[in-house]
Amino acid sequence: MFSNLSDRLEAIGKRIKGKGRLTEDNIRDTLREVRMALLEADVALPVVKDFIEQVRERALGAEVMKSLSPGQAFVKIVHDELVRVMGESNDALDLSTRPPAVVVVAGLQGSGKTTSVAKLGRLLAERDKKKVLTVSLDNQRPAAIDQLQRLAEQVGMGFHPTDPSVDPAATAREALDQARRGYYDVLLVDTAGRLHVDDTMMAEIRRVHETLDPVETLFVVDSMTGQDAASTARAFDEALPLTGVILTKADGDARGGAALSIRHITGKPIKFLGVGEKTDALEPFHPDRLASRILGMGDVLSLVEEVERSVDRDQAERMAGKMRKGKGFDLEDMREQMQQISKMGGMGGLMDKLPGMGQMSEQVAQQMDDCQVRRQIALINSMTPAERRRPETLNGSRKRRIAAGSGMQVQDLNRLLKQHKQMQKMMKQFKKGGMKKMMRQFGGGGGGFPPGGGMPPGGGLPPGLGGR
Ligand code: GDP
Ligand code: MG
Repeated sequence: MFSNLSDRLEAIGKRIKGKGRLTEDNIRDTLREVRMALLEADVALPVVKDFIEQVRERALGAEVMKSLSPGQAFVKIVHDELVRVMGESNDALDLSTRPPAVVVVAGLQGSGKTTSVAKLGRLLAERDKKKVLTVSLDNQRPAAIDQLQRLAEQVGMGFHPTDPSVDPAATAREALDQARRGYYDVLLVDTAGRLHVDDTMMAEIRRVHETLDPVETLFVVDSMTGQDAASTARAFDEALPLTGVILTKADGDARGGAALSIRHITGKPIKFLGVGEKTDALEPFHPDRLASRILGMGDVLSLVEEVERSVDRDQAERMAGKMRKGKGFDLEDMREQMQQISKMGGMGGLMDKLPGMGQMSEQVAQQMDDCQVRRQIALINSMTPAERRRPETLNGSRKRRIAAGSGMQVQDLNRLLKQHKQMQKMMKQFKKGGMKKMMRQFGGGGGGFPPGGGMPPGGGLPPGLGGR
């Protein structure tokens, strides 16, 4: 998502950063470009207008004048404005009520409701250790009930069976009773797809809503619908008190307009982004991080969270402790790190999140994925534990043995050792300067990630991050 907008804004940002001074003239030109970029991303017109107006006011205001680098200040203003439009901060699910906390999803046919229920169930069970029950009120399509049952089994939540001949509000009541009797923390309610103009169906979901009195009523909307997503959300909100939005299919090549329009037009927070078909493809929506991502500043923070979710926590903590104590980062650690990267779905998934990676082609990412990481792990596997701990002991004959043992050349091994040294250096800086310095390293230098460049595969992931 956002790839076009992101490319455009990044290019605009680069150009204006090169300018020594901001004048009314170059601000006007730049704003025109930003406006075009937003419209092309299918951001709703009122949002675009407001956006440009805010940026103009601030750009011409005192902030920029005082700034040392006006171009950078401009990019910062655009960034802040993106954040403001998308809602400032993350709105988490609010389940603070006497259990069971009821969450209802609503939306059009095919928007991703059932999938989102499964993703939420998995997140609540895995991350928050909640006991979750789910029920389908989709009497229109028996297949939809089976779909939810299958997903519930997959992610380990309880499933309340549905008789399609029974009124959905009655089924809702039964499910709520089961949730109470079974001491469930959360009841996730999937509903049939409906159009906001369908009076009968809207009346039905209002009855369900009254019966359940949910703490969260989430509108699920496909981000491919662009700015229409915002108007549909508003129409639903007029019929049903929504508490938030799940924006699905953000992994598609959608232009991203929905994410920028929904909050502004409906006043409802986007709480989650759906980023794939699998049940773990749900991300809490963080406006600030997304804004950074759009501007090509990378999304280090989301990365950190992802690392935290997928990485073995003990292992991460052990490494963090080791780093704090000032012990070196040896090849054993490097291997663990690379294994963690593979676990997280490889470099591909991490690529867009790292600063400066926006431009990197899929192919390169794939290549790194399939070959490089695996080959490097193989090289390290061919070493003895002592060699892994003390790579400086590797002389010519040892190197030849290791290369032969893993079916590679000595120069491959040398490359690995060089990368390891660079990572070690980064780890030291990480220890000294903490996150800030680290981020500067990421952001600066235009992302020297690819082979031959500054940063080795996996270099973006100090193991300590997982333990924080
Ligand atoms: P519902 O009719 O609203 O319940 O929609 P479903 O949950 O059945 O999803 C419809 C289709 O969209 C399915 O093929 C899902 O796999 C797909 N889908 C849902 N969410 C996402 C997402 O975030 N990304 C992608 N790529 N596909 C999704
Ligand atoms: Mg469904």
